[in-house]
Amino acid sequence: MVQQPQTDCQASEPEHRIGRAEKDIVALGVVVAAIILFVGTGSAVMTDLVRAYLGAGIQADRLLGNALILNIALIIFGWRRYVELTREVGDRRKAEETASRLAQTDPLTGCLNRRSIGPATAAMLADAQRQGTAVVVMMIDLDKFKRINDIHGHQSGDDILIESTRRIRAMLPERALLARLGGDEFACVVPIDRAHSEHVENLASLLNEGIASPIQSGSLELDVTVSIGLARSDELLSGVDEEAAQQLLHMADIAMYQAKKGGRNRYYWFEASMEKELRFRSELEAGIRAGIPAGEFVPYYEKQIDLEDGRITGFEMLARWNSPAHGMISPEVFIPIAEEIGCISELSETLIAQALRDAREWDPSLTLSVNISPVQLRDPWFAQKLLKLLISANFPPSRLDIEITESCLHENVGVVRSLITSLKNQGIGISLDDFGTGYSSLAQLRTLPFDRIKIDRTFVSTLGSSKESSTIIEAISSLGRGMDLPITAEGIENKEVLALLKTFGTFKGQGFLYGQPESGEAVRRMLAEQNLLAIAPVPGGPTTPDLLAPLRTATGS
Ligand code: C2E
Ligand code: MG
Ligand code: MG
Repeated sequence: MVQQPQTDCQASEPEHRIGRAEKDIVALGVVVAAIILFVGTGSAVMTDLVRAYLGAGIQADRLLGNALILNIALIIFGWRRYVELTREVGDRRKAEETASRLAQTDPLTGCLNRRSIGPATAAMLADAQRQGTAVVVMMIDLDKFKRINDIHGHQSGDDILIESTRRIRAMLPERALLARLGGDEFACVVPIDRAHSEHVENLASLLNEGIASPIQSGSLELDVTVSIGLARSDELLSGVDEEAAQQLLHMADIAMYQAKKGGRNRYYWFEASMEKELRFRSELEAGIRAGIPAGEFVPYYEKQIDLEDGRITGFEMLARWNSPAHGMISPEVFIPIAEEIGCISELSETLIAQALRDAREWDPSLTLSVNISPVQLRDPWFAQKLLKLLISANFPPSRLDIEITESCLHENVGVVRSLITSLKNQGIGISLDDFGTGYSSLAQLRTLPFDRIKIDRTFVSTLGSSKESSTIIEAISSLGRGMDLPITAEGIENKEVLALLKTFGTFKGQGFLYGQPESGEAVRRMLAEQNLLAIAPVPGGPTTPDLLAPLRTATGS
């Protein structure tokens, strides 16, 4: 059985008990005094009273007689009061015990709660110190629990929490503590023998395996895995108080977060370097939130080239973050964080709006490609939002191309299909980005109406050096020909790669051979030199045709 702790909510209990005991003693004292009085006066008066009653001619003392009756009444009253008080005290003690249990436990699972785990852990740390042993905190978090709640409802979520608790409890050693800290996060505190710390690792593996078997919820069988962070009390600098307990819980939490990042369904031990990484990460999160409205995110542009004649056909917009605290940061770092903290749509829309303003100044033959996150694809209003941006920038949809990475097709193929169809209906082009890395099936490719596929840069840049890369590029080229899908090759870094690539067919291409991605201003200068800027409408000349008229009708703006 997992231990239940004494918590601070019990601290004032002894005072209450003393007060109640005093009342008990007063009531009992009254009864005892009344009995002594009864015995003292009764022995003298009772005989006379009985005789007077029997008519023996003896006059009983009336005053003493009345006192005796009063004395009897006092005994009865005092005794009843004593019994009532004892019952009242018992009831109150039970109610206080229930309230204190509720204050320390989680009502759904019966585990300890966030408030009570700190003092309980501190008590265990103090015990361990006395006995020369150690304590390990295991932070357990269910993977993707929110998704289960969202898809299958809160009842299924509750079923999972209750069953997971039962499984965890069954695996924990007898003296361990188990708390639910909120949501899907549990903390176990386990006393360990320093000589056998491998027992904890065995326990963590058992928990990973044990929870991973399907959980029944109504007619559903749901799969859950857990990520576990472990922290040992030996890592604490000092103390066995509540502050030390909180620090140990915090360390296990950091390790758990790393276990999630490391791929979930695993356990990690806490290491000091993790704390630094976490601090950096929370700085980035705060920086992203503040940086979007402050205009720190800017679009850069990479040239897209027709490999046959070397002509620029357009640009791919690539996000850059000029962070005041950390300098230039790669989108591969900040895009996943923006996705996780729910800022990606705001960030992407700000960038696209700026890119459309920049691209409006380019020659009308040049296209603009933008990358879209899988999170945005799940937004039912995404197509509408994009059309609004096009309208306010007065940019023709036929010059815009959306890049969707191949890896997001697995989860969302139905959603992606309807989104692609609606965007295509508005004239926007759709490319499948990073092709070759996401294992999409031929059947998917056939049913999704892409306009173009982009071969991932890892295959292109290793074209001369890897046999596997050339086989893959050859396969993708013949697939493109067979399905009548034009291809763009990313990551052309040198002339050798370019020459080899051309032996496989006709492509568009992009890569460092044609230059690094550049700011809007630099692109504008380069286009001006090549006479590739849009010609400003001549005042009084023929008006430009309104390319957005159909969109305005569609969006009602
Ligand atoms: P991507 O869409 O595949 O973009 C191409 C990436 O390859 C860019 O990295 C580009 O700088 C890099 N690259 C271009 N030519 C070469 C080359 O010759 N060799 C090598 N090794 N690399 C080359 P970048 O700018 O760091 O972007 C990385 C990824 O971040 C992009 O991959 C895209 O998936 C994502 N990303 C960038 N901007 C955005 C955005 O605004 N929204 C979203 N959702 N994702 C974005
Ligand atoms: Mg791309
Ligand atoms: Mg790519």
